[in-house]
Amino acid sequence: MAQLSDDCFAHGGKLLRTDEALALIEARVTAVAESQEVPLAESFGRILAEDLVAPANVPPHANSAVDGYAVFFDDLSAEEETRLQITGRSAAGHPSAQPARRGSAVRIFTGAMLPDGPDTVMMQEDCRVEGGTVIIAPGIKRGANLRQAGEDIRAGSVVLRRGQRLRAQDVGQAAAIGRSQVWVSIPLKAAIFSTGDELREPGKPLDPGSIYDSNRYTVGALLRGLGCQVADLGILPDRESEVRAALSEAMREHDLVLTSGGVSVGEEDHVKQAVEALGRIHAWRLAIKPGRPVALGQLGRIPFVGLPGNPVAVMVTFLTLVRPLVLRMMGGTVEPPRRFPVRADFPHRKKKDRREWLRATLTEAADGTPLAHKFPRDGAGILSSMVESDGLIELPEDLTQLEPGSMVAFLPFSEMMP
Ligand code: AMP
Ligand code: MG
Repeated sequence: MAQLSDDCFAHGGKLLRTDEALALIEARVTAVAESQEVPLAESFGRILAEDLVAPANVPPHANSAVDGYAVFFDDLSAEEETRLQITGRSAAGHPSAQPARRGSAVRIFTGAMLPDGPDTVMMQEDCRVEGGTVIIAPGIKRGANLRQAGEDIRAGSVVLRRGQRLRAQDVGQAAAIGRSQVWVSIPLKAAIFSTGDELREPGKPLDPGSIYDSNRYTVGALLRGLGCQVADLGILPDRESEVRAALSEAMREHDLVLTSGGVSVGEEDHVKQAVEALGRIHAWRLAIKPGRPVALGQLGRIPFVGLPGNPVAVMVTFLTLVRPLVLRMMGGTVEPPRRFPVRADFPHRKKKDRREWLRATLTEAADGTPLAHKFPRDGAGILSSMVESDGLIELPEDLTQLEPGSMVAFLPFSEMMP
């Protein structure tokens, strides 16, 4: 279970900047996930809990990059064709039994071990064969068409680091150094609730004034995408006593509790009081748009995040704050998502001193530069804007006026949501 110091999110200021919020998370939240050894084939998407060190060179032996003939470079004429007797054969998985002799060539295939002696491989397309003799055109370089032992990975080097989330190529890399099992973090147990009397479960009929709960599904998917084990605890009514009872139950069995909705300052917003009764809350009004109301706190000693209610704000605050928080708790390396420079094709005014994210799609300008188009409707409740966009444009705190044609930072969804 998570352990937080009592004042893990304590902060004096009122409107917190994104960087300050991230610095607090970094300073106060520690890795809590224990690790387990899993079969390599089940490690995809998990966070590595050990450094993987190559016990031997990869490839372990020099081998041919092509189908052809292994030769001694010094046997070749630089000006005219060279005729060499073919004296051996080395196929992948079937190395040649005897060392090669000077003045001869060994038939060799891609991936086959280079026999002792030769230092160069001629591609078969550049050779002619007459009986048992291969005729080699001049012009090849010493060492051509070879893969050296250890050219991929050197024995003793760290190929994957603790904290990395294992992608397909990482799983393959672990196999390439001979690992059949790896140590990974145990999934964080995260509990999620939605709050709001207007919310209904998808699949049920809608009565007047009600809407379907989408946030719990979005947040559940985001958490699972980060490798969490998610307990979906349903919809809570706008009643403090019920919210409190549910949170108090959830905090006993989970590492992290998330809610959405009910964290603004309206009289129907009861999440803050409920959390304060069970732990501490520092009702973060963040200097961001969308998503200003985000409650960050703790229930007993486990972290609590009260996400906003508006579906776009939920995603933006999740990606900005919850993603690094969860990765940290799982012992993952937290790297800010990469921002790509793109050209904005629209003007935009914004308030100073807050960070703003706009939903955008990309096309290509005539000169090949990626061109960002803002989604026409700004509302924080318009979830279809996220569905139809490629990512977020991030506008820094000090910017107030964006002119069409200026370069902006683009965060593709694919960078943040694997
Ligand atoms: P709140 O912060 O609770 O005042 O909610 C802000 C807006 O988000 C309101 O329009 C809510 O109806 C909407 N909202 C809150 N929770 C959800 C949810 N789980 N799914 C969809 N919309 C929601
Ligand atoms: Mg509400």
